[in-house]
Amino acid sequence: MNAVTRPAVPTPQHFINGEFVSARSGGAFEVVDPATEKLTTMAARGDAQDVEAAVKAAKDAFGGGAWSRAKPSFRRKVLFKAADLIEARSEEIIKLQSLEMGGPIGPPMPGPHPMIERSAWNFRFFAEEQELAGNESFNRDDSLLTYTMRDPVGVFGLITPWNGPFMLSTWKMAPCLAYGNSAVHKPSELSPLSMRVLCEIFNEAGMPKGVYNMVLGYGAEAGVPLVEHKDVAGVSFTGSVPTARDIAARVAKQLKRVSFELGGKSANIVFADANLGRAVPAAAASIFMNAGQACVAGSRILVQRPIYQQFIDAFAKAAAAWNAGDPFDRATRLGPLVHKRQYDRVMGYLDVAKKEGRILFGGGRPAGLDKGYFVAPTAVVDVENSARVCQEEIFGPVAVVMPFDDADHALRIANDSSYGLAGYIWTESQTTAHYVSHRLQTAMIWINAGFERDLRQPFGGLKQSGTGREGGAHSREFYTETRFASFPLTPR
Ligand code: NAD
Repeated sequence: MNAVTRPAVPTPQHFINGEFVSARSGGAFEVVDPATEKLTTMAARGDAQDVEAAVKAAKDAFGGGAWSRAKPSFRRKVLFKAADLIEARSEEIIKLQSLEMGGPIGPPMPGPHPMIERSAWNFRFFAEEQELAGNESFNRDDSLLTYTMRDPVGVFGLITPWNGPFMLSTWKMAPCLAYGNSAVHKPSELSPLSMRVLCEIFNEAGMPKGVYNMVLGYGAEAGVPLVEHKDVAGVSFTGSVPTARDIAARVAKQLKRVSFELGGKSANIVFADANLGRAVPAAAASIFMNAGQACVAGSRILVQRPIYQQFIDAFAKAAAAWNAGDPFDRATRLGPLVHKRQYDRVMGYLDVAKKEGRILFGGGRPAGLDKGYFVAPTAVVDVENSARVCQEEIFGPVAVVMPFDDADHALRIANDSSYGLAGYIWTESQTTAHYVSHRLQTAMIWINAGFERDLRQPFGGLKQSGTGREGGAHSREFYTETRFASFPLTPR
């Protein structure tokens, strides 16, 4: 009764200079529905020739100035129109995203889906930011006045993952484009469907041709030539640590600016005085939402010893509410993993978990689902933080739950990680909350809250979780060049 028909999909093509085009090589790659394992379509398989054409279009658009030197009010108008159109096509985008990466479409909504609302907000936020942000001036008595100027940089390569394909892409391209740059975007080969809608929207909103371009394809074939292209001034990358290392080595040869948003193994710390009515469902959502395929997932749950058993019992109940099924069933909360590769990887970690600890619930395929890359909500207990399942990013619906004695003990466990992305603290004590937040080695911390955003926040990670920050003034710094001019106020 809740089943929704899968959308028809036009052949996914590149978007270069305002037009949809096939791969110059004629090549294509398979797009598979992760819930049914059936072939959805074949997508244009980009390589260096396509990247060359896209970068040329982006460079010409930048040099032409119709966008890069446009008045901020014009860019604001176009980006606001794009935001309105995104919201108007919410249902269509969500269905394409479900088809490409398996996220459940969820119940019917009176307005746009929250992920789509957030995507539109990304554009509205940076459209306003670029218009309102002023420059500085420095007045050293009457002998010298300096004013600063802020200019777009040029062509950026934007490389994005599959786990939030539409929203995460807009989170990069909104500031990149708002400040007047051009872009060549390479979405993940695992999610090449939903971005077509945004390309159509940019045309309809009146964005000049060539400002935004998209090349589909694999990292090695389309990502590498984009990173290495001499006319690409900077690279903004969201994805895994090994890919970031590869990109860093390549951009180093040309000294390009680069920003990395990478993985995490974030601690969700629940103190004995926490409001468990809020902390437990939030802990479950943090690791089971998107089938655990979230960089900010609270994948290590640390629970203070006096409430450990009580928490575990409540957590098992909360996990049971994350019913797995077809993402096109409106009642489904847990979809499949994105791809067979990811499914095999997570199943491999479950084997490791059985040796390193004990699987409390889950630990394999959910009952009754014979097709699709489904993994049941899983909790691993009786495990040391040094175990692989506590140190490595599994990127599936798998939480490890560990007890702790006091705040310092929780901090020792939480900080014993090569990652430093997010952290969650649940306590009714202000003193405990701020003691922990000042010592927790992660860039983003939520106290008594799940994942909530203010787009001015510095989004990013410490250690292996990334370099650079995205959001508000941080994005402005990355996507602009700052210069100054000085002159004496009195004759010399
Ligand atoms: P991935 O690194 O495999 O791929 C990301 C993108 O890079 C894809 O578009 C891919 O085609 C491309 N790519 C691969 N090799 C490349 C190369 N050598 N040169 C250029 N491009 C290349 O990552 P993934 O599996 O798609 O994404 C999952 C990872 O992303 C997880 O680690 C997750 O934590 C992380 N992530 C981080 C954030 C964040 O904001 N910190 C957000 C979402 C996902």
